[in-house]
Amino acid sequence: MTEPAPRPPLLRPSILDALFAPARGLPGIGPKMAPMIERLLGTPEQPARIVDLLFHLPQGGVARRMMGSIAEAPPGEPVTLGVTVTGYRAPQPGPGRRPFRVLVEDPTGDITLVFFGMPQARVEKMLPLGAHRYITGRIDLWDGHRQMVHPARIVDEAGLAAQPTVEPIYGATEGLTSRAISKLAHAALERLPVLPEWQDPAWIAREGLPAFADALRAEHRPESAPPPIPEGATAPPRSPARRRLAYDELLASQLALALMRARNRRAPGRANAGDGTLSGRIEAALPFALTGAQSRAVAEIRGDLASDRRMLRLLQGDVGSGKTAVALLALASAVEVGRQGALMAPTEILARQHFERLAPLAAPLRLRLLTGRDRASERRATLAALAAGEVDIVVGTHALFQDSVVFSDLGVAVVDEQHRFGVHQRLALGAKGAAVDILVMTATPIPRTLALTCFGDMDVSVLDEKPAGRKAIATRLVSTDRLDEVVAGLNRALAAGDRVYWICPLVAESEFVDLAAAEERFGDLRHSFGDAVGLIHGKMPGPDKDAAMERFQRGETKILVSTTVVEVGVDVPEATIMVIEHAERFGLAQLHQLRGRVGRGARASTCLLLYRGPLGQVSRARLEMMRETEDGFRIAEEDLRLRGEGEVLGTRQSGMAAFRLASLESDAELLQVARDDAQLVVQRDPGLKSPRGQALRVLLYLFEREAAIRLLGAG
Ligand code: ADP
Ligand code: MG
Repeated sequence: MTEPAPRPPLLRPSILDALFAPARGLPGIGPKMAPMIERLLGTPEQPARIVDLLFHLPQGGVARRMMGSIAEAPPGEPVTLGVTVTGYRAPQPGPGRRPFRVLVEDPTGDITLVFFGMPQARVEKMLPLGAHRYITGRIDLWDGHRQMVHPARIVDEAGLAAQPTVEPIYGATEGLTSRAISKLAHAALERLPVLPEWQDPAWIAREGLPAFADALRAEHRPESAPPPIPEGATAPPRSPARRRLAYDELLASQLALALMRARNRRAPGRANAGDGTLSGRIEAALPFALTGAQSRAVAEIRGDLASDRRMLRLLQGDVGSGKTAVALLALASAVEVGRQGALMAPTEILARQHFERLAPLAAPLRLRLLTGRDRASERRATLAALAAGEVDIVVGTHALFQDSVVFSDLGVAVVDEQHRFGVHQRLALGAKGAAVDILVMTATPIPRTLALTCFGDMDVSVLDEKPAGRKAIATRLVSTDRLDEVVAGLNRALAAGDRVYWICPLVAESEFVDLAAAEERFGDLRHSFGDAVGLIHGKMPGPDKDAAMERFQRGETKILVSTTVVEVGVDVPEATIMVIEHAERFGLAQLHQLRGRVGRGARASTCLLLYRGPLGQVSRARLEMMRETEDGFRIAEEDLRLRGEGEVLGTRQSGMAAFRLASLESDAELLQVARDDAQLVVQRDPGLKSPRGQALRVLLYLFEREAAIRLLGAG
């Protein structure tokens, strides 16, 4: 057995130091603002850095001259409106966070401004009764009324005169206005170092694209508002600055991929298939017989593991097709030859669920859980055991990617619901052992071309057969006007012992607005059902999330109100009713995933798709498609046709978009160019040693694809 070579720490070029310095060091960030910045751009593992602020691009700009009337203001786009303040609505009492609302109007109509967690006095001071103010923000429709949640900007006449001609509009967060973010972005721009040009100068000139630094400046200090969104498109055409930044990110990603492919070709794998005793024992311990499709997939994986080629296999299987059992058998193979296995899940809840399911099945194995939430002492113990080879299989979240996680000898890594992870994270995991065999699993049928460009070259196994005995799920479309009937129906269902998921709508692209909707619904349902109602959402601290999930699992709560947290993987067989509010706002694939949470037990299940009418022709067709079929592949094809690739891959709603500056929809054509460019670079300069190669190393670090640099020395 070969010992993995000790890895020297990767040294980020010092030219980038200023960009990776903590954002809280910027002037203007005091103790009050620092936590808000962290909430917007940081994670528990990684405080926000200046580069995060610079890559938090404005969603658009608003020109003062674009000011319009309330009646004509298009929902969903940033607008500036001159309005008069006509009334206040204090928060209603009740559980959950209730907003303070302010009514404003102009001669053409009215809007409700919604404020969460802001002192009432402060709101009243900004918006005195009877005063005339200019408000900037996005309008959305709620119950047919116009509302604007946390206007990006509120100014009086003098403030308006002092405004720049174009105001960049940022995705704001509670307590932190778009204006404040803009100021910080300006401060961050001051720290921008002079970086070498990593793009081919001839191409840049031909495309008329600015330098990287100029592009960032142009985005954060726009001089003109973006052009309107063309008919049939979902976004305005990309500016040269935006294209430049998108291309930089795409090239970094494609270059990392190309380096990985090159190494995979060079470096042979190791045989990781054992004698089958352990997997045989596990298979016998499963409470069911494998389906034909599962057996086929297991055989294909065994074939890969037995060969000395590295495995890179995609396991596609609709929700409920039983991917986990296949994963476990693959992991057991690694253990049979004395190596380790890792199973990675996209969320804390899923990692825990996998761990708890596997524990009894994998009884002879030493199993451990590693998440970002472990206590320091626990974490140290787990890390030490992993490094010492005292753990056979580790189940975890993103925490597994961290540099501090070192395996004694990792043989097989399985990545669950892989579209939630970037390929680069997978790459980082693969780099944790000598020639790790990798299995990625997804419920999303990914079109072949897209799989190639986004995920590299993979072999594919398909689970095209559901376990026997599954009951069809009755799917119904119900107008929200009939909410009362739905609630009455739930009363009967609860009495009969059913358990219910209630999914709240995706209102805006802002998580805290979604959250508010969920909290309001939770409050309402509490009125009818009391303590039988639980709440779970993505912003809850991890332990609270687990507790809420466990209460539902044990049946202590019978209705679980949720944002889309439950979408992937969660398995509570007793749940038989799925209510999805505002179903017309979800992607088909996402509805399918959500619906797949029920229909797992012996009892008949129902899915209620609540919609707010009137529905357009396409929306109706989409929802009817859901009623017609439970075939995930058919649904995904239709979804792709109707909505485009970013949606199908779930990158948009996952909150963990694979790209920060680029979008698979708007920049698809650039992706292809970047792929060709990267291949050429790797052919001509595989060690990235030429002057452009050196600059490209900086690019890889800038976009945190440096795991690929490690491959340059290895292999
Ligand atoms: P997914 O492919 O969505 O990840 P899971 O692996 O979570 O599906 O399996 C869904 C459910 O089906 C689980 O409760 C699992 O125990 C069960 N299951 C898996 N394989 C079979 C089978 N061959 N026969 C019966 N039930 C199965
Ligand atoms: Mg699963």
